[in-house]
Amino acid sequence: MKNRWSLKNKKALITGATRGIGKAIAEEFLGFEAEVFIVSRNQKETDDLVRLHADKGYKIYGMKCDVTNKKDREKLFEKINIQWGSLDILVNNAGTNTRKKTLENTEEDFDKLMELNLKSVFELSRMFHPLLIKSGEASIVNIASVAGMTSVGTGSPYAISKAALIHFTKYLAVEWAKDSIRVNAVAPWYIRTPLAETVLKNPDYLKNILSRTPMNRIGEPEEVAAAVAFLSMPASSYITGECISVDGGFLKYGF
Ligand code: NDP
Repeated sequence: MKNRWSLKNKKALITGATRGIGKAIAEEFLGFEAEVFIVSRNQKETDDLVRLHADKGYKIYGMKCDVTNKKDREKLFEKINIQWGSLDILVNNAGTNTRKKTLENTEEDFDKLMELNLKSVFELSRMFHPLLIKSGEASIVNIASVAGMTSVGTGSPYAISKAALIHFTKYLAVEWAKDSIRVNAVAPWYIRTPLAETVLKNPDYLKNILSRTPMNRIGEPEEVAAAVAFLSMPASSYITGECISVDGGFLKYGF
């Protein structure tokens, strides 16, 4: 089989790709010769990143899109449908955390987190199904978290949203296998991104994290991006419904 370890000419949509893990995924994909479409809520940051890589000759496009906004999602679909007419890879990466204790969350906090971490993924996956089916060998990769697999004390709404995302991944993998759409997830532990930096800058918290991480270091965005790239390639063509942890051994460390 040719091009098993390549993304050459694959058309990939990556949500939340101006910073952190999403940006690293976009850059990893470009390195493997994919065509990449990025979105974030910030027009300028999206345009700047597109320009930076387009100037180097890469095929990268983007637009402002709040994935929690129905009208924005519809505009995104329209744009990609006109531009590509099909889609090979959908990476549902945009997500966030409030890091509040269960009793500190308001109903609004809960709803907002679910809107982004879970509902946007559900809606985007359904919306792009007609374009993914046209690919003939499509791949969806959802960015989950180890917080969806065990308790890490970063807030129950986040944990619930990521656990549901992992289950959605398994469910969809079964339902859409007949459509030649594979669906997998990646579950990172602490990764050095602007989102995680807010807690990693606390030396005591960092020490605690490292003491629970067999590899004794924080992960890099590129290390998550590599797993996402593998799950998007023909090289992983018989893998679906899986969730790969990118965690320096965290989940395996009982004591
Ligand atoms: P960052 O906050 O560093 O980056 C998030 C990206 O998503 C930005 O580009 C942001 O741009 C965009 N984004 C946020 N909200 C929306 C929205 N509503 N619509 C479109 N784009 C949006 O996050 P990380 O890179 O750290 O996290 C990425 C994913 O990885 C998340 O799903 C997170 O839960 C998961 N994860 C991260 C871990 C970590 O340690 N960093 C660990 C485990 C999982 P803008 O704000 O301009 O819209």
